[in-house]
Amino acid sequence: MRLAENIWLLEASRAQKQAPGFHCYLIRDAEGLTLVDTSLPGRGEAILEEIRELGFQPEDLKRIFLTHTDMDHIGNARMLQEATGCQVYVSAEEEKYLTGERKRLPGKEKMFQGFQGPKVQVYPEKLAEYQIIPTPGHTAGHVCVLYQDCLFAGDCCSTESGEVTGPEAGFTEDEELAAQSLRKVSRYNFGCWCPCHGLPKRHQEE
Ligand SMILES: [Zn+2]
Repeated sequence: MRLAENIWLLEASRAQKQAPGFHCYLIRDAEGLTLVDTSLPGRGEAILEEIRELGFQPEDLKRIFLTHTDMDHIGNARMLQEATGCQVYVSAEEEKYLTGERKRLPGKEKMFQGFQGPKVQVYPEKLAEYQIIPTPGHTAGHVCVLYQDCLFAGDCCSTESGEVTGPEAGFTEDEELAAQSLRKVSRYNFGCWCPCHGLPKRHQEE
């Protein structure tokens, strides 16, 4: 699904009949291609295939920006990094889940047994064209990625109900903080929410 001249919601990550959508977004920017989140494990080949179908080469993928490190976001990061040589970025707080310094919710922790993550870097202070906005709550180091008219929201919100709501309670570490983060980010100037769960939705100014 093309959202703008240089921004796509990848079909490889979209809802199929049996499999729910874990949406990730591809952007053609000054560096080449940037992918925001990577969906659940097992969809990496389909993502690379779609990159080719869009007229690019896998090596054009220069960066993966992770909103956070839950499995439905980091799932294909290592595979894609090995296939393309891209850099993978996370927030400093989020990196602590990967080093074991911080524990995930018990229901999530189980999914990571035996999981091999990508080599990550922490987002630099300044990133040309992009704004990385801390939005803790769902996880401690969750960020939203603002680029042009799109807010890549990860799990800061969901639009599965057709409305912009907070993330699923059972999978959220601190609901109160998540609600605060959602209020904060909704005051930014952008035209389109691009969440992981649910379809893109116009941003109504308050
Ligand atoms: Zn998610």
